[in-house]
Amino acid sequence: MTLAELPQLVAPLLDWYGQNARMLPWRENTDPYRVWVSEIMLQQTRVEAAKPYYDRFMQTLPGISLLAGAPEAQLMKLWEGLGYYTRARNLQKAAQIMVEKHGGQFPRTYEEILALPGIGGYTAGAICSIALGKPTPAVDGNVLRVISRLTGDNRDIALPVVKGAVTEALAAAYPARHCGDFTQSLMELGALVCVPNGIPKCGECPLQSLCTAYREGNQQNLPNKAKKKPRNKINMTVLLLRCNGRVAVRQRESGGLLGGLWEFPHVAGRLTQAEVQKQLADWGLAPQSLIPGQTKKHIFTHLEWDMMCFLADCGNADNDFCWVTPAALQKDFPMPTAFGKFVLQLK
Ligand code: SF4
Repeated sequence: MTLAELPQLVAPLLDWYGQNARMLPWRENTDPYRVWVSEIMLQQTRVEAAKPYYDRFMQTLPGISLLAGAPEAQLMKLWEGLGYYTRARNLQKAAQIMVEKHGGQFPRTYEEILALPGIGGYTAGAICSIALGKPTPAVDGNVLRVISRLTGDNRDIALPVVKGAVTEALAAAYPARHCGDFTQSLMELGALVCVPNGIPKCGECPLQSLCTAYREGNQQNLPNKAKKKPRNKINMTVLLLRCNGRVAVRQRESGGLLGGLWEFPHVAGRLTQAEVQKQLADWGLAPQSLIPGQTKKHIFTHLEWDMMCFLADCGNADNDFCWVTPAALQKDFPMPTAFGKFVLQLK
């Protein structure tokens, strides 16, 4: 099929969605606030992983004004482990704008929604169609994969011209009613049937008879994606410092990667035991014991941290670190997963 023929998708896709849609917490109530939070969470997080975070977030901050006024530590704790913390900060900034400029209400137009921090064309399209019933496509990598297979288009889906053409064609294909269901049916097909990894389940697909890639046996060669640059690898040595039942943490500078979150002290490179001894002495610490711990790896989108660690029991806690109990660390100090991986080694 061609892009101009996309209206042919609507009926079979809506029919299939009606019978196969998963029950997800954010589908029970399509209030724009709830749809917005779910879409932001799902940008970088799998559905199953996002569910408990979403439920906790909605129980704690069920509306715009509560989110706008939430203390930063509370917000970061709610997001702890999800990664990409800028998402949470932008949620709060956007909520504050809604309070200041929109009378505490969610804006109703695509342009106003798109102007909010952290909201791009995909998210604005999803909110407008799912929560407000507008014919606005939400085109992300999933939708581009499905459409490139349906149309047999082997152009690189990262090209803006490809995304632009798909967005335009989909906008023209939207039905007069059930706009939200149409958006979600495309997403659902990409998640459950026309899957990104492994073989697409063409035998279960309601669009098989329309699909160019299926007809040509070309499903697994599409979509065409440019090769990503290899990740930059960084070695670091993490120091788990204990003193009188407390552990040393420090706050990361605001603004950068994981800005404002808490971390265990660490230094660049893979240090030997003797080098760690010297580093601790430079910090004014005299360890009574020093033993190597486990190594961990943490992968960001463009970066990989290879982290080794040492556990040190210190006789004094007199330096610039913040020394906290494990209970306080868990309750009040939001820590990214990269460092949270070492917490078990403190026990
Ligand atoms: Fe994807 Fe196969 Fe359906 Fe085509 S027939 S849209 S390749 S699942």
